[in-house]
Amino acid sequence: MINVTKTFLPPIEEYNAFVKRAFDKEWLTNRGELVQTLERELITFLGIENIIITNNGTVPIQMALRLLANQGEVITTPFSYVATTAAILWDRSTPVFVDIDSERLTIDENKIEAAITNNTKAILATHVFGNPCNVEIIKEIANNYKLSIIYDAAHCFGVKYKGESIFNYGDVSTCSFHATKLFHTGEGGAVFTNNKELNHKLFYSHNFGHDGPEKFHGLGINAKISELQAAMGLAVLPYMHEIIEARKVICDYYQENLNFQNLKSIKIREHTEWNYSYFPIIFENEKLMLKVKQMLNNNNIFPRRYFYPSLNRICYLEGENMPISESVASRILCLPLFVGLSKKNLKSICEIINREL
Ligand SMILES: *Cc1c(COP(=O)(O)O)cnc(C)c1O
Repeated sequence: MINVTKTFLPPIEEYNAFVKRAFDKEWLTNRGELVQTLERELITFLGIENIIITNNGTVPIQMALRLLANQGEVITTPFSYVATTAAILWDRSTPVFVDIDSERLTIDENKIEAAITNNTKAILATHVFGNPCNVEIIKEIANNYKLSIIYDAAHCFGVKYKGESIFNYGDVSTCSFHATKLFHTGEGGAVFTNNKELNHKLFYSHNFGHDGPEKFHGLGINAKISELQAAMGLAVLPYMHEIIEARKVICDYYQENLNFQNLKSIKIREHTEWNYSYFPIIFENEKLMLKVKQMLNNNNIFPRRYFYPSLNRICYLEGENMPISESVASRILCLPLFVGLSKKNLKSICEIINREL
């Protein structure tokens, strides 16, 4: 069976060597040595200033919203994983959708201003599939209207924009280290900000409001990760260059061998060093996409409809129409992309798809 992704597992001895460090110290959580080592190594690897590792990629969005949205309106994208919208609703803030750019699939920065009201507090946008939003224009708008910017950068491990980590953009960025993501700790994530005061607030937010054993600074939740998860991260990290290179080879193969006369791929924003996190293809219509998906399934190949449905259409929401997002969501398929996907399998995936076009 070939799935859309397959978790990269480091050699078990290498993972065990890190786990042994936790056993030797008899210390399993509360920001132990392994979490702190992983934070330092990620700062170097990513070229960033601050990181707080968290238990997943969803809670840090909730923490950021709690600090910055104040249960007001949050302008957001309808084309993302459900966690982006759910975090807004969970915070009892109000999502206000703005449609997407039809080629890049990120929020359409030209439509943001029309959605701003007196109650707008923040913009929560997703660098979807690791493709950066128009961070410059969004920053201008946010400055003009005094809004905060939160980027859901769950897909963005290793992405650079204009030579800098994409995590450096926005007031706050978040990432997911879930096992299906590019870099992983099994379950995990991180939150990034270059604002010192905000970093302090996020720090105590992720630790029950504590900043020191008997000191409280404000409201918090438990968003800490354990030493066992950090051990996985430390064992995976040395392979990241290899992982990204292997994924590039697969993406290049799809790009060269699929019939793009009758398909579209996404347009990566200029000045981006992309991370090959997903390989989405967009069909001319939903019927054709479903037919190809069925043919692949018949051959034990399971691509995924990332992201479907458009989030303004999710069951508990009655959002306004978002014609571009709804249209793309109905026609898009993410193809298998993981280290170890063989040339032989790639060839047959391309043949099955091209045959139906
Ligand atoms: C995976 C994902 C999340 C959630 O991350 P978890 O670590 O699973 O909580 C949030 N946003 C997007 C866009 C994602 O793809």
